[in-house]
Amino acid sequence: MSKLLIVGTVAFDAIETPFGKTDKILGGSAPYIGLSASQFNVNSAIVSVVGGDFPDKHLDLLRHHNIDISAVEIIPSGKTFFWSGRYHNDMNTRDTLSTELNVLSDFQPVVPTNFKDANVIVLGNLHPLVQLSVLDQTTNEDALVILDTMNFWMDNTLEDLMQVIKRVDVITINDEEARQLSKESSLVVAARKIQEMGPKYVVIKKGEHGALLFNQENVFFAPALPLEEVFDPTGAGDTFAGGFAGFLTKTNDFSFENMKKAVIYGSALASFCVEKFGTERMCNLEAKEVFRRLQLFKNLTQFDIELT
Ligand code: AMP
Repeated sequence: MSKLLIVGTVAFDAIETPFGKTDKILGGSAPYIGLSASQFNVNSAIVSVVGGDFPDKHLDLLRHHNIDISAVEIIPSGKTFFWSGRYHNDMNTRDTLSTELNVLSDFQPVVPTNFKDANVIVLGNLHPLVQLSVLDQTTNEDALVILDTMNFWMDNTLEDLMQVIKRVDVITINDEEARQLSKESSLVVAARKIQEMGPKYVVIKKGEHGALLFNQENVFFAPALPLEEVFDPTGAGDTFAGGFAGFLTKTNDFSFENMKKAVIYGSALASFCVEKFGTERMCNLEAKEVFRRLQLFKNLTQFDIELT
């Protein structure tokens, strides 16, 4: 069975949207990626770190989704990574109010022996040196390496991040971050420049406006499902990455054609994530609901046109 290795933050999030506010709830890039990928019943493991303040119930939740969390280190005297953000009225943009690295500051990740040969590796959003260390511990040269990152790491650790970017096959990044990284305003030019930095595939996420997949001269576009209500966009990008990676792990086919399908799965799963606060919707998501949504995606994008 194919294996998926995930490294990312396991966090407390405090979120404010026009619809309400949460106290410290389960967040972080890794839970969103893991929960989303669990829809594909793949063998997955998370490498991360939490403090002694992290409740067992959150770890149990990940275990119940068949995610191996033996490499989530618990530092009893430390505090868990904390992030808080406030969304603007359009729900497309947000301000980060606080990022407290806490136990992440000097985290030395250890990849479980049975996941060193993973077929797909997701370097979820966290410190690039941690991402590099995970990559250095893996052994499968044919593994597909997917990187997700954000402006925080571009602002604070750009040199380290460039070392990671050089070594990955796919990068998933949002439109603003693609512009920041490439210093280009056109996303097509930005994608080309980012490919020159290393990744053969560039996925640019555009929130409610869908996602673009670039590979050399090929471009594929997947819309986001038009939803009546977006409750909380937190984690949508990570959920996208988890769905994308989960599908590719299950099918073990890393061709451009198959990546197009992975983009659709990622988009469909992300459309659930935003319906409730935090990870709530992803925790109780059934396969038949995903199936129905994929059908909606198909209807949304299929058309017959006679070109004579
Ligand atoms: P997304 O909405 O997809 O960008 O993901 C939001 C999640 O990323 C939240 O659950 C945060 O805990 C986590 N997060 C926020 N900032 C960072 C950061 N600098 N590094 C890693 N994870 C972060």
